[in-house]
Amino acid sequence: MAKDYYQILGVSREASEEEIKKAYKKLALKYHPDKNPNDKQAEQRFKEAAEAYDVLHDSEKRARYDRYGHDGLRGMEGGGFSNVEDIFSVFGDIFGGGGGSIFDEILGRGAGRGARHAQGEDLGVELALTFEEAADGVARRISLERLVTCETCRGSGAKPGKEPATCPLCRGHGQVQRAQGFFSIRTTCPRCRGQGRIVEDPCGKCSGEGRVRNREEIEVQVPAGVSEGARLRLGGRGSAGPNGGPAGDLYVLVRLKPHAFFQRIDNDVLCEVPISYSQAVLGAKIDVPTLKGKAVVTVPPGTQGGEILRLRGQGFPSVDGYRRGDELIKVVIDVPHKVSAEQQELLRRLAELEEKQVGSSRRNFFDKLKMYFG
Ligand SMILES: [Zn+2]
Ligand SMILES: [Zn+2]
Repeated sequence: MAKDYYQILGVSREASEEEIKKAYKKLALKYHPDKNPNDKQAEQRFKEAAEAYDVLHDSEKRARYDRYGHDGLRGMEGGGFSNVEDIFSVFGDIFGGGGGSIFDEILGRGAGRGARHAQGEDLGVELALTFEEAADGVARRISLERLVTCETCRGSGAKPGKEPATCPLCRGHGQVQRAQGFFSIRTTCPRCRGQGRIVEDPCGKCSGEGRVRNREEIEVQVPAGVSEGARLRLGGRGSAGPNGGPAGDLYVLVRLKPHAFFQRIDNDVLCEVPISYSQAVLGAKIDVPTLKGKAVVTVPPGTQGGEILRLRGQGFPSVDGYRRGDELIKVVIDVPHKVSAEQQELLRRLAELEEKQVGSSRRNFFDKLKMYFG
């Protein structure tokens, strides 16, 4: 006599979908094979819970079961799981978004996956951008090599028409338990290298790996305002998993190429602009570079060396679109190493005038100097 599905999950016959899901989640965690290695009873409970959930979370199956019991389910899809891996392949991704399953979510990435469900490797590429590209956002095509599911064997690794056999050493789990002193350690099965299956008659195209190298072009949309070191995640664009498992993710690491004029400070850009002494004193209009091209900036009369003039909104946009940074123009007074005879003449004349009319900051300094030496 088969067990009652409501009893297995420990819920009432009126239980809501949410309650059923919650109950299953709890049992699945409790009896998960990774938490109960080599425990036949736990494995049995784990399967029962999955079977009960499979029926009760499907409204059609549940209605039939309610009316006719186990007989009502005959001839329908499903109806029990012969092994744990089948459960993973059916329920692997129902709970979490973004490719994470109930098991990944709670037991930690990679720890809870059955051998057949192993995810492919994450990949990383660097993408060098100019300041202008990072500021505006850009679509870039990058060429990369990744492992994709072999089309010939559809990822099984076996010659078409042949089936891979369950690994006799780990019985399909992909991991083996090994005693070491007082501890018992779980390691990747050496026989099948964690695949859970052994291919005796390998596919000619992928040599039994189930995956082949493939170079492809991927378009990356870089959002406006990205910073040096930002990581963009492209879900499912990493390598395909072995044996048809889900693909890993692709991470694009943003690098900013050095700029001829700019330094980035958060979302502001800093640009040092040399001006002459006379421009600083008299004021001037000067051309400056911006991320968008050129702009004319007014240097007010009496501008000091090191002073910062601000061009509002000419920096990087923030990635969240909140506020654009500014361009900061740092004024540097350029003292010429050499001047013409005529310039020398004029500067001497200027110096004579300055002796008679000393500027306020210089006057302060000389007053202090006099006091200091008595
Ligand atoms: Zn193949
Ligand atoms: Zn094995």
